[in-house]
Parts: sequence; structure tokens; C-alpha cells
Amino acid sequence: MHENIRKSDKEVYDILLKEEKRKEDTLEMIPSENHTSPAVLEALSSVFNDKYAEGYPKKRYYGGNEHIDEVEILCQERAKKIFAVPFANVQPYSGSPANQAVYFATLNPGEKVLGMHLSAGGHLTHGWKVNFSGKYYDSVFYGVNERTSRIDYEEVGKIAKKERPKLIFAGTTSYPRFLDFKKFREIADSVGAYLCTDVSHISGLIVSGTHPSPAEHAHIITTTTHKTLRGPRGALIMTTRAGIEKDEDLPEKIDKAVFPGLQGGPHEHQIAAIAICLKEAMSPVFKKYGEQIVENSKALAEGLRERGFSLISGGTDNHLLVVDMRSKDISGKETQELLESAGIVVNKNAIPFDPEPPFNPSGIRLGTPAVTTRGMREREMKEIAEMIAEVVEKKDEKTAVEVGEKVKKLCHKFPLRK
Ligand SMILES: *Cc1c(COP(=O)(O)O)cnc(C)c1O
Repeated sequence: MHENIRKSDKEVYDILLKEEKRKEDTLEMIPSENHTSPAVLEALSSVFNDKYAEGYPKKRYYGGNEHIDEVEILCQERAKKIFAVPFANVQPYSGSPANQAVYFATLNPGEKVLGMHLSAGGHLTHGWKVNFSGKYYDSVFYGVNERTSRIDYEEVGKIAKKERPKLIFAGTTSYPRFLDFKKFREIADSVGAYLCTDVSHISGLIVSGTHPSPAEHAHIITTTTHKTLRGPRGALIMTTRAGIEKDEDLPEKIDKAVFPGLQGGPHEHQIAAIAICLKEAMSPVFKKYGEQIVENSKALAEGLRERGFSLISGGTDNHLLVVDMRSKDISGKETQELLESAGIVVNKNAIPFDPEPPFNPSGIRLGTPAVTTRGMREREMKEIAEMIAEVVEKKDEKTAVEVGEKVKKLCHKFPLRK
């Protein structure tokens, strides 16, 4: 493996091998991460990397793009088919630039956007004050209900009526429940706003039919391609029939916002890899994969509940859980560090109405997309819940390292490189 890197750059080669070993030997439980297929990785290292293709298929600013056009059109067609939408832009470099393009396409600087508050499970690009979206746009927020930790749609509707945003974002990074896109659309319609559903975390669940699709309700859909969708880092921006009915120029506005508004040459190797991941996601095997992600997430929730952990909103409908670590008298940060010593990779996370600051929050976030890719099922989730409990109840490095041996054994039963 990696013979050319080994020959030309021993330093990078050695680091790469260490990273491969780390991935092989640890349980990746960060819900936004996954293990991509060899075909996707191969496309990323292909000659598609070399080409400048500013513009769009058949309208490029450089020559020599006939095959680049083919691959980009193929990717667009697959995106439209799998998400059941009439338009897709496949060029955004990643999720944040995709959302930035949505702002460029729909708002003037200073106009109002309504998004979910970061502490309730939203994303930086949905209006957070230190992000471009909060600096250059007038951002206001909805959160979750304090008692249920769920979105209270009546409350969101009231905020929308009072604030009258021109754009509403529905999308989350640490919300363990289904999103009701129909209700979001009713709210958007009540004030004449665009509804953008940012399904970055759940797009793999949507295409496998385990989370309701926003295609009938949103005007615009954005998604990263590297989370549950299991592709390369990258993103898609799509418009729905409803979006085009609301604003027939929306596809053109989005294309112009991405290029020349925001980006230069598209990453065509990334686009080829997205095309491959979309083909993979259309297969019956992927449908099973999406179903197993959710089964695993529920099994992990059950296992943790049995060991006395308190789960935000009481459980999960999707691929992730948020755990209130106050139920084990330990901070999110300390939990992350101890679990890392045991080879279980998670991230600390704010819980709704967290009394602690963001760099030392009270919770952690756990997800099953990557361990499900390894082939693990409900039985292994119960085992992982037991191991997590052992580590955080004992709270010492020695126990963590001992549990780490068990983690390694479990990982080796489900190798990444088969
Ligand atoms: C991950 C994520 C993004 C940003 O994606 P990057 O590729 O990290 O820029 C945007 N929105 C949501 C909801 C996300 O989960």
C-alpha cells in the first residue's frame, strides 16, 4: 500500500501508517465521521485532481474539459435521482461553503436568518455570531424545549412571526430526534421565508429511508457528503420543485453564488468521488446499512440507559445520542479524554441549557455510522455501552487502558481493511 508515497516521502508515509493503525485499532464514535470505501479514496487520488474547470459543464473557462463535464454531469444526475429533486450543484468544497452559497443566493448582507442555536444542536453556519453567518447577516435563533429537549414547533412559529426572517435553516449536528420538515415549511410559508434544510448529518439516513425526506417540503437542501452518506469530504446544494415554484431563478442564483460568487476551480476529483458514493448509496446494501445505523444507535442508547446514563430527550431516532455526563458526575471533556485512552473516540458536546461553558460542556455526543460500517451490530453496541460505563464509573487511567485492550480485540474482529 502507498508504495509511491513511501518512495517519495518517508515522513508523510510514516505518519499515514500511524493514522491507518489508529483508525484500525479504535472505535470511531464521532457521529459526523465515517470510513469511506476504497473506490471513493481511489477517486480522490485520481487525475481528476489535476484539471481546472471553472464554470459548469459545457460552460467552462478552460479547454480540455470534455471528460470532466461527463463526470460532473453524472454526479449531478445521481444527486437529483437519489434525493428526488430537479436541480443539484455538486461543486461546494464542503458543508460550510455550501451554506455560505445559500446565503449569497437568497439574502443581501444584513438581512435576517433564523437558525437553530448552536447549544441546542445547530451548526455554526446557521447564524452563530463568530461565523460569517452571524457577522454579515442578522441572525436570530430557536432552540429546544427545556423539559423535552425537543424542538417546539409552535415556539419556532412564534419566533418566525415576530422576527420575520427571509431564510430559515432546519438542520442539526447534535439533535437525536427526527426533524419535522413539513412543520418547518408551514412556518417558512407563514412569513414568506425560504426554507433550507441542511441534512448534512442525516443524508445517509434519508437516502436509505430511515429518516423522512425533506424533498417535498424544503425549498433548498444542503448536505455534506462525508458523514452518514459515507463519501469524500464535499457537499451538495439542491433545490426542490417547491423551491423553483417559489423562485424560478433559484437554481441559477445558487450556481452563481458558488461560482463565481464564492469559489474558483471546482475539485473534480472530489466530484468524481461524490458520484461514486452516490452510486454506492443507491444500492440495497446501503439501505441495510442505514437501517443498521439506527438499530445500533437505539441498542447503544438502551445499553447506556441500563447503566444509569441520562440521555438528552430520552433516546434517539437517528444515528446519534447526546449523553448528559452529570448523570455520572464527570465532565464532557474528562469523559472524552478517558474514553480516548480506552480507544473509544467521541467528542465533548454542550447539552441544551448547559450551565457549563462550550469548552468544558456537560455532555458527549456518540454516533454509530462508523462502527456500523465496520460491520458491528446490536450485540457489539451493548458491549460498547458496558465498556463506556466501566471507564467513566472508575474514572482512572488504569481502567481506561485495561478497557482499551478489549476495545482493540473488538476492533480486530471487525477489520477495516478486509
Ligand atoms: C458538518 C456540518 C456542516 C459543515 O460541514 P463542513 O464540511 O465541516 O464545513 C454544516 N451543517 C451541518 C448541519 C453539519 O452537520
